[in-house]
Amino acid sequence: GASVTLSGLEKRYENFGAVRGVSIDIRSGEFLTLLGPSGSGKTTTLMMIAGFETPSAGDIAIDGRSVVALPPHRRNIGMVFQNYALFPHLTVAENIGFPLKQRGVPKPERARLVEEALELVRLPGYGARQPRQLSGGQQQRVALARAIVFKPRLLLMDEPLGALDKQLRESLQLEMRRLHADLGITFIYVTHDQEEALTMSDRIAVMNEGRVAQIGAPEELYDRP
Ligand code: ADP
Ligand code: ADP
Repeated sequence: GASVTLSGLEKRYENFGAVRGVSIDIRSGEFLTLLGPSGSGKTTTLMMIAGFETPSAGDIAIDGRSVVALPPHRRNIGMVFQNYALFPHLTVAENIGFPLKQRGVPKPERARLVEEALELVRLPGYGARQPRQLSGGQQQRVALARAIVFKPRLLLMDEPLGALDKQLRESLQLEMRRLHADLGITFIYVTHDQEEALTMSDRIAVMNEGRVAQIGAPEELYDRP
């Protein structure tokens, strides 16, 4: 997985500071969670790493190279959001193959990679289905497959389980852990759910009012019963 260095990262809107000096060294293969209440700057931080927002100050380096001048598609980052937004008119396989098609991967290779991704998210044989034939949890796993199919070295996730019920959320949390271990990709995960952060993360950066208030392994930050 990629190493990611955030140095003095800031985002101002008019005179409001959404992100106010975030510095974090994320190690290769780490599962880092940004945890904090609504409005603490988690999504804005993630969007700057993804390249959908431009920092007002500071730098983002991936594997030691600054990426702030690169557009999103040149950063080779996988992304999953709460509203998974599969293309409704495409099959599951076409959805997952979309980023490969954009990258000019030929069809036979695409089919092989799509099937491999479906197996990784435990949906083998689902390629011909339509998104609307799937449950919410299955759709989110398809979104996950689409995000990892081009073998990015970094995966960004913004409340990916937020729209799911508690039981499904808990089983997918375990799937995420397994997938993280299997793939060796660096994960940066955003949530406001402390229990979720504790269950999955190698390290948690607790955000408050645009800053990192605390950072550490779950057992360093919280006493668990
Ligand atoms: P979180 O993900 O922790 O809920 P956000 O990063 O979405 O927080 O937002 C941080 C703050 O920045 C919030 O107060 C939000 O209202 C503000 N904000 C986010 N995007 C914009 C924008 N485009 N224009 C103005 N303010 C924004
Ligand atoms: P481009 O700039 O080439 O049009 P985008 O910046 O829209 O591409 O997207 C970058 C890459 O991320 C593309 O390969 C696209 O397929 C993929 N992508 C876009 N949205 C999502 C998403 N919600 N989940 C997973 N992958 C996505």
